[in-house]
Amino acid sequence: TQGYISAISEAGALGAFVHETPDLAMDMARAADKRIAEGGAPDMCGIPLGIKDLFCTQGVASQAASRILDGFTPEYESTVTAKLWRSGAVMLGKLNMDEFAMGSSNETSTYGPAVNPYRRSGDTEALTPGGSSGGSASAVAASLCLAATGTDTGGSIRQPAAFTGITGLKPTYGRVSRWGIVAFASSLDQAGPMTRTVRDSAIMLQAMAGHDASDSTSADIPVPDFEAALSGDIRGKVIGVPREYRMDGIPKEIDALWQDGVRMLREAGAEIREISLPNTKYALPAYYVIAPAEASSNLARYDGVRFGRRAKSEPGDGILEMYEKTRAEGFGAEVQRRVMVGTYVLSAGFYDAYYNRARKVRALIKHDFDTVFDKGVDAILTPTTPSAAFALGSMADADPVQMYLNDVFTVTVNLAGLPAISVPAGQTGDGLPLGLQLIGRPWDEAGLLNTADVLE
Ligand code: GLN
Repeated sequence: TQGYISAISEAGALGAFVHETPDLAMDMARAADKRIAEGGAPDMCGIPLGIKDLFCTQGVASQAASRILDGFTPEYESTVTAKLWRSGAVMLGKLNMDEFAMGSSNETSTYGPAVNPYRRSGDTEALTPGGSSGGSASAVAASLCLAATGTDTGGSIRQPAAFTGITGLKPTYGRVSRWGIVAFASSLDQAGPMTRTVRDSAIMLQAMAGHDASDSTSADIPVPDFEAALSGDIRGKVIGVPREYRMDGIPKEIDALWQDGVRMLREAGAEIREISLPNTKYALPAYYVIAPAEASSNLARYDGVRFGRRAKSEPGDGILEMYEKTRAEGFGAEVQRRVMVGTYVLSAGFYDAYYNRARKVRALIKHDFDTVFDKGVDAILTPTTPSAAFALGSMADADPVQMYLNDVFTVTVNLAGLPAISVPAGQTGDGLPLGLQLIGRPWDEAGLLNTADVLE
């Protein structure tokens, strides 16, 4: 823990940690030492972690990287972090992210972006670690913590994991409690582990998962032993390769990586099958209707009264002026854009044309996956992202839709509520990490981790 604390204090330029808790970390580490000495301590005991700023941590600032939550220190602890602390993990601090987890580059953060520890060989340009869990990815890749929590609404664990050469797992919707995690789009959000290895993911998911009566969407089903599932044996497993993910304009390196993944799984004894997920092309538009719709509703609570920041009012201002000023100065541009899109698609005149249609598309996308799994496919292999990490600043000012296109391989999974993992599987010619994604059947994180372990 001491080693990580000093590594963090020297790595300020990465912008990964936004709030450090060294004293708390040392207290927790001493308590963990004691537990270990007594014997029978759980696997996570003494493991130093970074926590995405989206998780409420009791007595420690939790701002979701937003200005509107300036000064907010929760009175309560999220279920996930409470479970991690109970299993002896050590809290190093809070990690950078896109504001309210909206983004794919960590550039919408009120703290400024986190930076990818990787550079193109022979280049000095700073690259994005991805988003929204960019601080988590950067910190794990740069060894500023042994592992980190992330959250994934449309790819925010998997895309940054791919951009930084680490492993990121988005569990089945309902596997991990959302209680105490700042909500973005409640029907899509899931927390998961971001780690250096697949085995670490298995161990950390074990500590995070399980039913929680405080989250009505948390599933009351047994949690298997994820680490015990890592047998290395995938003989006879059926791996689907979806035709629709073979899109025009994908860099050759990504396609080659995908072929490598197919070869590795085949050599390990899996059967490779071409499959079709015909509604894939509608996933991005459906996601960018549903996610903002839910966000606009969730973000209504930030009104300057209940949490965080309140704008200064002028004499004569009423409560509406106070709301307006607070939101105008507290929410960044991307968050305001989402709130506007969300309220628009939910408004009486447009509800059927946009929101309801997107929900129908979502059902079709889920049906595509169900059909494939019913035919015996155990997991689906795709690239995690359509490109390697891009330069900071290169996309942020462009058309926001350009940034949204980055999520093309990841959002389908959230719409269908499925588990998926990104594993580091290769690199570009100029040395940037690339990830492969495996998508699994509902609740089959164990099978997914075992297959991913073969790719790692
Ligand atoms: N990039 C996507 C978005 O901006 C996904 C974010 C996420 O998974 N939290 O909505």
